[in-house]
Amino acid sequence: MDEQEITAAATRREAVLGTIAKAARIAGRKPAEIALIAVSKTHGEDAIRPMLAAGQRVFGENRVQEAEAKWPALRAEYPDVALHLVGQLQSNKAEDAVQLFDAIHSVDRPSLVAALAKAMEKTGRRPDCFVQVNIGDEEQKGGCAIADLPALLTEVRAAGLPLKGLMCVPPADVEAAPYFALLAKIARDNGLDQLSMGMSGDYETAVTIGATHVRVGSALFGARA
Ligand SMILES: *Cc1c(COP(=O)(O)O)cnc(C)c1O
Repeated sequence: MDEQEITAAATRREAVLGTIAKAARIAGRKPAEIALIAVSKTHGEDAIRPMLAAGQRVFGENRVQEAEAKWPALRAEYPDVALHLVGQLQSNKAEDAVQLFDAIHSVDRPSLVAALAKAMEKTGRRPDCFVQVNIGDEEQKGGCAIADLPALLTEVRAAGLPLKGLMCVPPADVEAAPYFALLAKIARDNGLDQLSMGMSGDYETAVTIGATHVRVGSALFGARA
């Protein structure tokens, strides 16, 4: 790892943090209320190490197996890293996910709630949980249908999962703001105050609408192959 790579990573990170801070101030919020999750999926150690050296400590991955291959060694060096799972989770990977991740953003169905509860019981680990909402009602997308959300939240609470808030990935290629506003309203209506929303193309908008966690990949690491 050379100095130039660290400087480049630090520059991209400072730019994203600066945009978050500006959007937060416009919305009358404190920049420190917003967590930047650096989504490092598909990127290897060569890209992740400069970001660690630049001071980033919260990372996101979308696959359990990929994260298991990449992170244990890095975490031995950087024990204060927090790892967030931002991709869909199969129930048979729930225990592996609970072992590795500090937060899971993709709780979206009763069978997964049950699997996570069992995994937490067995391992004694309790990662923060976000319920993913299929906010644009898209057939191919993960996430719980808006109509099914009250029942799912009841199950999540009954199972004792550490429920923190809601997460969404709005439809591509249309204005994201109305979807972020809808997620914020649904969260308020259900007594939840954390919102995982906003990616490279729209995190600034998401922060003005109340995001507490933004999930940023390409703006930090460059385009994925
Ligand atoms: C890949 C991914 C991101 C990051 O996307 P970018 O557009 O590269 O910032 C955020 N959230 C989820 C769920 C993702 O899968």
